Amino acid sequence: MTILFRKIKDRVRLKNPFKGFSTDEIPFEIRFDPLTGQSIRVFELPYRPVPRPDFEALIQKSRAMNCPFCSESLETATPLYPKELVPEGRIHVGKAVLFPNLLPLDRYTGVCTFGPDHFIGPGDFTPDIMQDAFTAARSFIQTVAAFDPETHFFNLNWNYMPPSGSSMIHPHLQVNCGHIPTYQPRMQQTCSYHYFLQNNRTFWDDYMDAEKAAAERFLADIGPTFWTLAFAPRGAFPDVWCIFPECRSLIEWKDEERDAFLKGLAASLRYFDQEGFYSFNLSIFSGRENPHYRVNARITPRMLLREIGNSDQTYYQVLHREPTCVRPPESLREKALMAFKQGVS
Ligand SMILES: [Zn+2]
Repeated sequence: MTILFRKIKDRVRLKNPFKGFSTDEIPFEIRFDPLTGQSIRVFELPYRPVPRPDFEALIQKSRAMNCPFCSESLETATPLYPKELVPEGRIHVGKAVLFPNLLPLDRYTGVCTFGPDHFIGPGDFTPDIMQDAFTAARSFIQTVAAFDPETHFFNLNWNYMPPSGSSMIHPHLQVNCGHIPTYQPRMQQTCSYHYFLQNNRTFWDDYMDAEKAAAERFLADIGPTFWTLAFAPRGAFPDVWCIFPECRSLIEWKDEERDAFLKGLAASLRYFDQEGFYSFNLSIFSGRENPHYRVNARITPRMLLREIGNSDQTYYQVLHREPTCVRPPESLREKALMAFKQGVS
């Protein structure tokens, strides 16, 4: 096993005005992602989320802008697929409806509503509420995979509420499928292959063993899914990483893997809600037939850092491509574990 949880500890020395200008030291860590080697910074700051906005006012404002995902508009305001791809034009599964994304993020895109409800509260997403949309997304991925055998990269995503970048209050997933992967899954797939060449083993198996042995961030095995807080967070607050040990592609995503994932996702969202966060990004990354890769998901809370509404993405993230995280993930494990125990019992 050659999994490295590599970090460099350092500190800033200054005369602190909050301590009578006495000499003070503020520690920080530079961590390196165990798979990709990407560096990130971890602090230990007494950060508290700012108060939530008036949800009711936000809902009314978004309704006044004419929501295309509500039942009265969906049929006339959302696009249809060409008949050769989806003969019915849109994919319907239970309450969920999936249709093309007007934003051309990749050759094949989908937007999928969870149902007719314009707003679902951040702590209210149960597996039952989410199941139809994730099933419709899988159906779209399978449709694309059969239609275009050259499509090798699939991802299933969710922006929830405006701090995440979502332009819609009405909850919905986004699915993208194409021939060329985006940066993060490309790094994951390339580094998974290099790990195999160097070790003759699969990174993902070794990584899950290493997290369990460390017992500092590991959260749960839920059926055929593995859950941990990530050693090298992607966002301003520690994020959750889910791995599907037996799943190489969302094309072959089994019902029991979907159901286990939705249990862990509901627990993760409940945990974020308890921490005071009401917005998040989710991405599930998938290849097609890569034996060294595993389907995996990152779920990260998003926030406006202060009451003036400043973003949690600054030059550090956007131009340096270096995430900064206000808390070490290890310090949050006990609280996250509580949410997972509530969620899967
Ligand atoms: Zn709506």
